Amino acid sequence: MTERLYYTDSYQTEFDATVRELTLRDGRPAVALDRSAFYPTSGGQPNDLGTLDFGAAGIYAVIDVVAGDGAVYHLLDAPSELPLELQAGSRVQGVIDWLRRYDHMQQHSGQHLLSQLFARRFEFETVSVHFGAEESTLDLDAATVDAAQLEEAEAAANDLVYAALPITAYVVDERDLARVPLRRPPAVSGQIRIVEIAGFDYSACGGTHVHTSAEIGPVKLIRQERRRGQTRVTFLCGRRALADYSRKHRLLIQTAALYSTDVSQVPDLVERSLEQVKELQHRVDELTTRRLAYTAQELLAAAQPIGEDRVVTALVALPVDAVKTLANLLQAEPHTIALLGSAAGGKATAVFARSADAAPHMGNLLRAALGALGGGGGGRPEFAQGGGVPVERLDELLQIALRQLRAAS
Ligand SMILES: [Zn+2]
Repeated sequence: MTERLYYTDSYQTEFDATVRELTLRDGRPAVALDRSAFYPTSGGQPNDLGTLDFGAAGIYAVIDVVAGDGAVYHLLDAPSELPLELQAGSRVQGVIDWLRRYDHMQQHSGQHLLSQLFARRFEFETVSVHFGAEESTLDLDAATVDAAQLEEAEAAANDLVYAALPITAYVVDERDLARVPLRRPPAVSGQIRIVEIAGFDYSACGGTHVHTSAEIGPVKLIRQERRRGQTRVTFLCGRRALADYSRKHRLLIQTAALYSTDVSQVPDLVERSLEQVKELQHRVDELTTRRLAYTAQELLAAAQPIGEDRVVTALVALPVDAVKTLANLLQAEPHTIALLGSAAGGKATAVFARSADAAPHMGNLLRAALGALGGGGGGRPEFAQGGGVPVERLDELLQIALRQLRAAS
């Protein structure tokens, strides 16, 4: 059995203890003590970190804390072989990482406050909670929670923070539990630890909590998501909420500076910029289409006659989409065959197309030409696309295809 010091004083950061057991867990030395202020991962609250000082046997970082068989095991950042001088009965001094613990206390007390608020105001019960390294969540038994409800809950939570309600923990025998207006029935039996936010919330909980609701600090609801008929609300309390405010404030100031404006103008300006971008894109598309039409006419003027058809052979410095559009423009002309190549993006692409009144099969022509150079591709009689050959052999590819057209005419 390990006496859990955090049950009676969640603010105790240092303690003396005696080693009860030395064992291995996950390949790491694990130490059980007669008493400990280290919180083991449980009830959704993550474990503490810190150090154990064994005197002459050294100081070790505690990298995980787990509960088992009534004991609390401290996993040490040490090789699996511990120094010989370390043994059961050794004296040890423990120190927990207070910033981390206090952060968990702020999130956990904040969660009790929010869960009670959602239950009282909207009859949304908390189904499960999770305290993450950066954000915490609570899953509400509610198919939807609207923005106004979130705003109301957040404002009410912060009002309760200002009210500085005392938060206490005490043990009640399960036979006397009817006297305690618990928010949820307990998951344990026998002696039950109750965490009370003075007259407001009563929870069966083994976690660590702040002394008054004032210490929870700012409460901020970040977002909500629907999950299998429930709603997951992500929240931040205390220093996390402050840090989030600072970060977002900085980002908004930076964005406002980009627009040389005040932060209040940012949404309007961003919206206007997006509209301008859309307009400009439309204009660029129009100009690109016109330019491709000119290019098509230029290429047609230089086309070579083969039989009844005229054949355009060209390497064009255009992205693949534009090459396809150009091929479409050319195949709309009577008796026209287009053999186009592009090295856009450092990759060879060949697009072969012909008008409906021309005869050669473009898919077969491209497959044969690419095959001669070790590439691959093909397509329909009127349109084909392929690649896979070195960029510097694109011209050769077009010449092979051109020779085949001549030979077949
Ligand atoms: Zn709790």
